[in-house]
Amino acid sequence: MSYVIPPAAQASVAVDGTSDRFPVRRIFCVGRNYAEHIREMGNDERDPPFYFTKPADAVVETGTQIPYPVATTDLHHEVELVLAIGAGGANIAPEAALGHIWGAAVGIDFTRRDLQAQAKAAGRPWDMAKGFDRSAPIGAILPLEQAGPLKNGAISMLVNGETRQTGDLSQMIWPVAECVAHLSTLVTLAPGDLIMTGTPAGVSAVGRGDLLEARIDGLPVLTLQIAA
Ligand code: MN
Repeated sequence: MSYVIPPAAQASVAVDGTSDRFPVRRIFCVGRNYAEHIREMGNDERDPPFYFTKPADAVVETGTQIPYPVATTDLHHEVELVLAIGAGGANIAPEAALGHIWGAAVGIDFTRRDLQAQAKAAGRPWDMAKGFDRSAPIGAILPLEQAGPLKNGAISMLVNGETRQTGDLSQMIWPVAECVAHLSTLVTLAPGDLIMTGTPAGVSAVGRGDLLEARIDGLPVLTLQIAA
């Protein structure tokens, strides 16, 4: 057997402190998970979470430069805790969820906010607002035994040294274990899946030449530059 075209390279994310890589299978994102961000977007914080996805090869390495994305004039940053699934499963109990997580990282859920607003108004899917090329910068993954239970810790986003987003993991409406458990009732999670767990308040636009720094206490910093 041979492939009729060359198969794509395996998308992967750095593992902190080693040359090892975490192979990425799918990227699931929680739509709304911090009350203040839900309010700033004009939505009802009592709604249950919902999900969208990004392609695995949308991942971008920390410390790199990316071009400003095409087809938008309103690119927004959303700093998020990213869970790296090491053991798959369906209908995972919240009490068992941490055992399915291999590690954690800081990520940015880049959003073409103008395309998202058009999609929302027309009742259309968010794919082109969320799942575009290089839309998922992910910092180095820290193994869970070093990252801890991820129940609290400051989360922030700086643009050119100015703080834009601040929050705390303790403000997540659906904490880490609940996210894994709930998502696993909708799809069978698999090793290599990443879960972006939602963003705190303060999302805003970034432009050409901007230097982004995404931080969560205890996890490797994610830095990224938008090309001039
Ligand atoms: Mn998001």
